Amino acid sequence: MMKRKGILIVVSGFSGAGKGTLMKQLVHSYDNYALSVSMTTRKPRPGEEEGREYFFVTRHEFERQIEEGGLIEHASYCGNYYGTPREYVRRQLEKGKDVILEIEIQGALKIKEKFPTALLLFVMPPNAAELKKRLEGRGTETPEVIEKRLERASEEAEGIENYDYIVINDRLEECVEEMHGLILAAHRTPERNGELIREMRKELEAFAK
Ligand code: 5GP
Repeated sequence: MMKRKGILIVVSGFSGAGKGTLMKQLVHSYDNYALSVSMTTRKPRPGEEEGREYFFVTRHEFERQIEEGGLIEHASYCGNYYGTPREYVRRQLEKGKDVILEIEIQGALKIKEKFPTALLLFVMPPNAAELKKRLEGRGTETPEVIEKRLERASEEAEGIENYDYIVINDRLEECVEEMHGLILAAHRTPERNGELIREMRKELEAFAK
């Protein structure tokens, strides 16, 4: 039996679509997932912890990480930097874990370019009004920031066709199960099983001799 190979799973979605809660639940329900913790220059929200939601750093520190090649990808979002630390992702993939990157669209496209077998999922709320309601209900952002994030959602909606699947986040449990199912299916595609296919061909050729 060949060792299980982890894949990169990119999860994007409008701010307020509920990605964070979804991802936490997915990781909690199944043990084959590892959630990557990003680095950001944005200030922590109340309740957020260093090293759990993000590694909170200064712009200077972030730029140093970029220069040293410590990030697989990075992007600017509503005036702040966000990026994925390289080391953690590498180690978890090696262990056979599926690594979830909860990142915005520019980062998602960079990941797809560098890792063509990455699976790209886009989380949507049931409708746009619900999105606004969730953002306002969160109570952690000022009206100006909410406005910026809604504008950004409109821009991001232009890029949805680049993703492999859309997931509608209406009922949390159902959505988690659906995502897990999509990821299991992705593990079975030929382009993610090159080694298995080559091995099988080699063994069959040996029979034919
Ligand atoms: P928030 O400030 O709401 O935590 O995140 C803002 C946006 O940045 C979200 O769309 C989130 O998915 C994205 N994001 C978080 N971490 C990263 C990252 O490491 N790289 C990129 N490209 N985007 C990220």
